[in-house]
This record gives sequence, structure tokens and C-alpha cells, in this order.
Amino acid sequence: MATNEMPDMASLTLEHGEYVGTEMSLEDELQEDVLGDQVSMESSEADSDSEDEEEEEDDEDDEEEEELSWISWFCSLRGNEFFCEIDEDYIIDDFNMTGLNSIVPYYDYAMDMILDVETPHEDSLTDIQQEMVESAAEMLYGLIHARYIITSRGMAAMLEKYQNVDFGRCHRVHCQGQPVLPVGQSDIPRHTTVNIFCPRCRDIFFPKSQRQGNIDGAYFGTTFPHLFLLTHPSLVPSPPAQVYVPRIFGYKIHQTSEYYLGKRDRDNDRNGHRRGRRKQLLDKATAFAVAIAYVLVVLVGSIVMKLGLPALNTRMLQFVYNPIQIMLCSYMSIEAGILAYRHDYSFVPCNPYNSKHPVMGELLWLFYMSKILDFVDTFIIIVGKKWKQLSFLHVYHHLSVFLVYWFLFRVCYDGEIYLTILLNGGIHTIMYTYYFVSSHTSSIWWKQYLTVLQLVQFAIMNVQGYLVITKDCAAISHRIQYAYMLYVQSLFWLFVYFFIKTYCTKKPKIN
Ligand SMILES: [Zn+2]
Repeated sequence: MATNEMPDMASLTLEHGEYVGTEMSLEDELQEDVLGDQVSMESSEADSDSEDEEEEEDDEDDEEEEELSWISWFCSLRGNEFFCEIDEDYIIDDFNMTGLNSIVPYYDYAMDMILDVETPHEDSLTDIQQEMVESAAEMLYGLIHARYIITSRGMAAMLEKYQNVDFGRCHRVHCQGQPVLPVGQSDIPRHTTVNIFCPRCRDIFFPKSQRQGNIDGAYFGTTFPHLFLLTHPSLVPSPPAQVYVPRIFGYKIHQTSEYYLGKRDRDNDRNGHRRGRRKQLLDKATAFAVAIAYVLVVLVGSIVMKLGLPALNTRMLQFVYNPIQIMLCSYMSIEAGILAYRHDYSFVPCNPYNSKHPVMGELLWLFYMSKILDFVDTFIIIVGKKWKQLSFLHVYHHLSVFLVYWFLFRVCYDGEIYLTILLNGGIHTIMYTYYFVSSHTSSIWWKQYLTVLQLVQFAIMNVQGYLVITKDCAAISHRIQYAYMLYVQSLFWLFVYFFIKTYCTKKPKIN
């Protein structure tokens, strides 16, 4: 280098030229010949950025670069478009530099370089040391930059760049060319490269230009774009009006399709795995086979028993069966309550609905299975020949509940469903307790309140269903919700009929 006897500015600028020198192309070298002002520099930037650059020292440029400060020069380099120019006043204030000297090597040299200060030591540095100082200066500038752009002055500088769309635009089609902001994923240098943040879709992307993409993300930090938007709320765009919906021959792909379940979910995920394994009990054919088998058992069983088979003693069976039901139902009810509490559910819809990892998925499966276990009730009635208990309500209730929960498991398996499990599990706990006690005790004073509780349960379910519809919860379609409410209504009125028939029209018998 032949810069030793040159005046300060010139010597520094040349060295900075050398700093990028190893990467500069001949094309840039030619541009540098006319590099008197920034305009020509920018025109060189407008050229293709695909070629790598190479450069040899070019002493003749010195005088022409004199007026360009290191900061202006650095910010005008191709690939450095995301940087704003930091006020020298900001850098001179030691308070703003707190801690940087422990991160940046050659801190004092780098600082002098940024501030275009001529130092006597500079000449004694070897070329390699000089290069290290130059890269230290870049790092120092970057780290100061991360601090500067979250100050009001820095933000104003970045606002101007944002308005000039210096950071580029979002690539997403539905963001409609939304200008973006630079962001880092880490505040620690050398961790991640800079990304761009779209204020519309609130996602991050790689910058379009690879040169920009190689800049350290810590030079912009994790905070800047968000604080910037908070400071300028008028710049916050509305979220994308449209969401891209993948279609095959014009048809949407169903949410439960393999298409939406990643391979990882299918193979490893706990919920995904379990739901997949248990699906065999949940397919349409199995569910309907179980339902038909139940009806056949009721019909054939009743006929066979009525043809003259003696009634079986079901005491032992009930003695075991009822406690199992009590434990199972109370567990499901409590678990539903705990899950709802843990996930901040409320009685008032709309509770969050997680279609991929349903909070209630496992429990709802158990609940569905328990509806098959409930068929044992009917079995006990038939083999015990207690025909009075084998009402239409009984068979309709058992059969329909099973089918309804099979259906709900497929279409509405999270969120509001917790209430059904909570209430129904609770009621069934009390009901089986009643059955258990009644097999040892003759008259139970609270029998009729059990029916009242069931009616209250149906009423609450209806209120919830009404709220889901009026609040227009996105996860549940209105058709399904209406069907569910209609079903609950049918049970409600059948129970009302049962209540009137049993407790109102005749005196309670003493057995
Ligand atoms: Zn976007």
C-alpha cells in the first residue's frame, strides 16, 4: 500500500476500499474510477449482483473519495442497503457504547476507523492486522446500529428507508407487496443472518439478495421491527384479507387429510399416533356394526328371554359393573375439568380448537368407548328380565349417545366438547352410584333429583350450543351445532316425559 503519506481521509477510505477489495469485481473497479460521488456508486449497485468482486488497490481514487465518510461509504456498499447511517454524535457518546469493547476485537482501532480518525498506530499495522481491524469496524458498526435503530433518531432514519422500500417487499402473494423491515433472530453476533419481517403476515423471510442475506442478524436485533411498528401504529397494515387455500380440481382438502398431517405427526407424535392406532374403532363401518349389534342384541335377547328362559341373577355383575362405571365416569368428569382449567377454557364459547393436537382428543376417545360399556346396562336389564326398565328412552338414549359421540369425535373433538364430558361424566357418576346403592337399599329419597339433574344438564348443553351459534365459533359448523342441539332437545323432552310419568302422575310405590 502506498497510502502512508496521504492525508487522513484519503488513506482511510482507500483502506476501506481494500477491505472489500478481496470481493470486488473488475466491473466495480471500473466503476471506482468514476467514483466521485454517491450517485455513481449507486449506479454501480444497480448492476447485477451475481458476480463476485475482486479489486487491486487503486491509488488514484483517493482524492475523489475524500468527501465520503466511512459511515456513508459503508452504508453505500452493495449488500449494505439495510443499514442506516448512524449519527456521529451517537457514536461519540461513550454511554451508548457500553459493553461493546468487550465484544469487538481491536475496538479502539475499529472505532477510529468508523469515525474517520487518523491514528499514528495505524501505519504500524500489518496488512493482516489491518484487515482484522476492518472487519472489526464492520462488526462494531453493526452492533452500534442494532442499538441506534431502536432510538428515536435511528428509528426516524429507518422510517425513511422503510418508506423508500429499501428493505424490499414481502414475497407472499396475499401480502400484496407489503414493504418489510429487517430483523435478527438473535441479538448475539455470529448466530443468525438477517431476515426480513413482514408487518402484514408477521412472518420472517430471507432477503432477496444474497449479499444482504449474509449480514449478521444481530446488527438489526430481535426488537427493532416490532418496536418500530409500535412507535408508528399508523404503519401497521391490516392482516392479509385472503388466505391461500390449496385445492385439487377445485375442491378443498379436508383438514383431517394426510395432506395436513406432517410425516412427523403421523409417525412420532403422541396424539397423532394414538389417534391413528385407535381409528380402527372409529371408522364408520365399525361404529355402525356396533350400533346394529346392539339393536340386534336388544331385539333377539328380549325375544329369547321372553320365550321362556329363566331370569338370571345379575347381582354379582352389577356389584362389579357399577363401581367400575363410577370410577370411570368420575375420572372422565374430573379430567375434563382439569384439562379445561389448564387450557383456560371458559363456559362461554368460543374456546380454542386445536384440530392437530386436540386437548380433549384422548379423553373424548375414552368417553366414546365408555358409551359402548354403557350397553352393559341394557344387557343387565334383558337377562334380568326387568322389562319395565327396557323403555324406548333407554334404548334410544344408549344407541343415539354412542352414535352421536362417534360423530362428534370425527367432526368436533376439541374445545366446547369438554363441557359434555364434564357434565355427563358427573351425572353418570351419580347415576351409577344410585344403581349401586339401590341394589342394596330399597327406597332412595333422591332418585327423582337425579332426573332433575339430567334435565339441568341438557339445559346447560343447550345454552352452550346457543352461544356457540350466536358467537359464530369458527371451529364448529352451524349445521353440526344445530343437529347437536336438536339431539339434546330430544333427550330433554324424553326425560321430561319420563319425569312426569314416573313422579307426577302416580304415587311413588313402596316396594
Ligand atoms: Zn407478508
